[in-house]
Amino acid sequence: MKNKDFADLWSQNLMSNYAVPSITLVNGKGSIVFDADGKKYIDMLGGIATNILGHSHPAVVSAVNRQIKTLSHVSNFYSHPNAIELAQILVRLTGDKQSRVFFAQSGAEVNEAAIKLSRKTGRTRIVAMTGSFHGRTMGSLSLTGQISKKIAFAPLLKNVKHVPFGDVKRARRAINSRTAMVIVEPIMGEAGVIVPPLNYLKELREACTKNGALLVIDAVQTGIGRTGQWFGYEYSGIKPDVITVAKGLGAGLPLAAMIAVGKTSQLFEPGDHGSTFGGNPVTTAASIAAIKWIEKNKTLAKCKADFKYLSSNINSIPGVSEVRGAGLLVGIALQKNISSEVAEALQAKGFLVNAANPNTIRIAPALNISMKELNQFVKALKEAMSDVH
Ligand SMILES: *Cc1c(COP(=O)(O)O)cnc(C)c1O
Repeated sequence: MKNKDFADLWSQNLMSNYAVPSITLVNGKGSIVFDADGKKYIDMLGGIATNILGHSHPAVVSAVNRQIKTLSHVSNFYSHPNAIELAQILVRLTGDKQSRVFFAQSGAEVNEAAIKLSRKTGRTRIVAMTGSFHGRTMGSLSLTGQISKKIAFAPLLKNVKHVPFGDVKRARRAINSRTAMVIVEPIMGEAGVIVPPLNYLKELREACTKNGALLVIDAVQTGIGRTGQWFGYEYSGIKPDVITVAKGLGAGLPLAAMIAVGKTSQLFEPGDHGSTFGGNPVTTAASIAAIKWIEKNKTLAKCKADFKYLSSNINSIPGVSEVRGAGLLVGIALQKNISSEVAEALQAKGFLVNAANPNTIRIAPALNISMKELNQFVKALKEAMSDVH
């Protein structure tokens, strides 16, 4: 079976909510993947910021193997050592001993959980940012600041006010003593890797504190080392009330967490929320193995250095206007609206990237991608840019 056969079968059997993928990936190791035609790629997108240690990483494979052979699932009527160990790790990474964790499977679900948690303040109003992405379920879609994704599904949650990302004045005007929560991505990922002004999170924190509103950091894309920090907000020095993480958390397996910080962690009571698969022994085993590997190998520092290397080498490519992001969440802004053509040219050369918007290429490779692979990418990007120009 070739890519073409899979594309035909996809159309005949899957719903049309996605464009039909032109290639079908069948195996991979590290940052290398192969499609059904046997073509080799360097995976610069990592399942969209998800495969933090690439494909089939030995530490993840052995942790998952060991666990699936021992016990597969327990439900939340029972405890399991892995869920407790991972929660302990996440609490430690927030630097706040009062933090408490709720596990689910996806980013949308943990943002839903944050909405429910914020209702426990007795307030219902929410402030979110224009252009943001927080998920596709009805609650998380209400937070998402992209009209095109929402228009067909109205009415959504009432009382969600969107203000321009990065605009402190507009945010201050929207946040008041009736605001339950403010949700913000440290860097807007889906929108095309948009970095806010340096003091933005700090000023949002101040406005939230002043009005008694919860500050929710959506670290679904920026979290678990992606930006060279554990969650992506730390550079700002703030303490959020809630952090949501997903994508990279399961190292390729479906796992998400809402981490409530400080006294916010006490808002839920028994019966308030739940998830059948949340904290599953196998997905949490993968996560623990990946986080331990990242800590042992000082991968956060490597990601920071990788960003410096990529931005200095990509900035000088003709046709590139800007390199945005942090760590290995990188938006390559182009002078013209040719990101789809450049992404196609890169795919033909054996590099998987994402055209996040008409003039931005997004990359979010495995955090352990090698310098040699990054080098190959820079060289291919240079060629692709000159080919498309
Ligand atoms: C991907 C993403 C989500 C949604 O996650 P799903 O697992 O697809 O539900 C939410 N927030 C941000 C910032 C994301 O990047």
